[in-house]
Amino acid sequence: MLSQLPSLQKLVRHLQRLPYLASKNVFKVAGHLLASDSKVVEQLCNAIIEARSAIHRCQACFNWTEKQDFCTICLSVKRDKTVICVVETWHELIAIENVGEFNGLYHVLGGALCPLEGVGPDQLTIVALINRLDGNVQELIFATNPTPEGEATASYIWSKITTKTMICSRLASGVPIGSTLEFMDRVTIGKAMQGRRPY
Ligand SMILES: [Zn+2]
Repeated sequence: MLSQLPSLQKLVRHLQRLPYLASKNVFKVAGHLLASDSKVVEQLCNAIIEARSAIHRCQACFNWTEKQDFCTICLSVKRDKTVICVVETWHELIAIENVGEFNGLYHVLGGALCPLEGVGPDQLTIVALINRLDGNVQELIFATNPTPEGEATASYIWSKITTKTMICSRLASGVPIGSTLEFMDRVTIGKAMQGRRPY
């Protein structure tokens, strides 16, 4: 059926390349776009193009930043630069930031170690993290997800840290095993952050 609608076929093909868009939803999204006002679709396309060209990774923590080399968290004079919270992705950074209890800096790894999917240490920002651990950083909080990959990633980083003088901690229990921070409520993340245990 789609072969008779080449433009729609092309749209569906592009939507199918997007992660997190379940296959059954691809047709719903395509249908929604086709039924939308052309002005609205144009604004959406322009917003995507604009964001893609304006936003890039912070040179220090790999959070997203716009116009500047460093993100607003790294540049803030109010943040405690002696503490770094290590997260897998930007989604977890947002989840922790929304709780409003953490006032240090972050480091976004870009995922977790997963050899079966070809994600090794070189695919993550681990070397950049180790290089950030100068004498000023006194505490490292591993907030990688409580999944086998997240645990393995924290263990790997810990094994690569030669100066063990800083405090290293892991988010406390309360974080359900196998879950991801992104989908946890603020109270759970806040308690996990308060009750973090030494690594
Ligand atoms: Zn930053």
